[in-house]
Amino acid sequence: MSLAEITDRIHKACAAAGRDAESVQLIAVSKVQPNERVEAVLKEGHRIFGENRVQEAAGKWPDFRTAYDGIDLHLIGPLQTNKARQAMELAQSIHTLDRPKLAKTLARLAQETGSCPDLYIQVNTGEEGQKAGVLPAQADAFVKEARAMDLPVKGLMCIPPVDEEPSLHFALLAKVAERNGLTGLSMGMSGDFERAIALGATHVRVGSAIFGERTTAG
Ligand SMILES: *Cc1c(COP(=O)(O)O)cnc(C)c1O
Repeated sequence: MSLAEITDRIHKACAAAGRDAESVQLIAVSKVQPNERVEAVLKEGHRIFGENRVQEAAGKWPDFRTAYDGIDLHLIGPLQTNKARQAMELAQSIHTLDRPKLAKTLARLAQETGSCPDLYIQVNTGEEGQKAGVLPAQADAFVKEARAMDLPVKGLMCIPPVDEEPSLHFALLAKVAERNGLTGLSMGMSGDFERAIALGATHVRVGSAIFGERTTAG
């Protein structure tokens, strides 16, 4: 599929939900993709990208930034505290704030540098043991804690369990966001972004549907 087709599907999903097309941002998830595929999408004029590893992002985005203006990079993968500084330098948004220790590190670095990327708190809506994110029952307290550290929390993010209907998880995330006065909802991937838009997604993270299948695990 092409970028234009995905954009068209996003517009249709917005129209069906009675939403403005501008209310949804398409994050093109470029992890593990060959540089020429990423560059083709840059040449089409797209500027919003997602990566899930700091190391990999550091290896390609500084060069792309030299060549293309206005790149908006989102870090959407798990973040270790020892990579937090590098992540803050590379990305304009971090979608995976998932624990107090990371919040404290980001807050300290934000104080020190005077700036901080937009932050999304990852919620483990499926309460999966191996998955990152705060549990839904702990989300309100963690939002408060992060706000008390003056962190720029813009919204919530989730990755639904692979074997469950994602709409239930999107609806839960939207509910937790609403009761905390958060407007950003990072949810929806290649297989389910239209359902996410129907439930209020503001950022959809689409990789393989734009770039083709990844040849190695991301
Ligand atoms: C890889 C990844 C995506 C994109 O997945 P696709 O199914 O290729 O669209 C979205 N979100 C996260 C957190 C990812 O790691």
